[in-house]
Amino acid sequence: MGKMTTKKQFAVIGLGRFGGSICKELYKMGHQVLAIDVRDEKVNEYAPFATHAVIANTTDEKALQSIGIGNFEYVVVAIGDDIQTSILTTLILKEMNVPNVWVKAQNNYHHKVLEKIGADRIIHPEQDMGIRIAQHLTSEKIVDY
Ligand code: ATP
Repeated sequence: MGKMTTKKQFAVIGLGRFGGSICKELYKMGHQVLAIDVRDEKVNEYAPFATHAVIANTTDEKALQSIGIGNFEYVVVAIGDDIQTSILTTLILKEMNVPNVWVKAQNNYHHKVLEKIGADRIIHPEQDMGIRIAQHLTSEKIVDY
């Protein structure tokens, strides 16, 4: 039989507003979350909201190997601004056979490259949230009538 637990193992790379919210929410839901950022102040800020928190530059393949990132079922790459860093991090994760790599995209060029290198899900936070809000607005309207 498989594992005794249905809990999934998550890692979140990049603890800005986007990655930080994902980390906190997963932890609140009782999941195992590894929080990773290159900045020590971000790692300290999120340490209370994660199972483990580590300082690492995720473009460094050896650093990712020593963290054991290849054993995680889900890895979220929430590095938005630095497209090159996001791409290289994603590439390394897929080379290490992480089964589910979800990545925040900055623009359409970034999206295309992420698709090519095997990102499993590509997220556009502003657009995706806009769609959700439109759906919420219309469902409220139905409740009002
Ligand atoms: P948000 O819009 O979600 O608030 P942000 O603008 O604060 O994000 P981004 O540049 O999108 O910041 O990056 C998110 C996080 O990723 C930052 O906290 C940054 O330190 C981290 N980060 C950037 N490069 C690396 C790297 N090579 N390895 C690990 N973390 C990194």
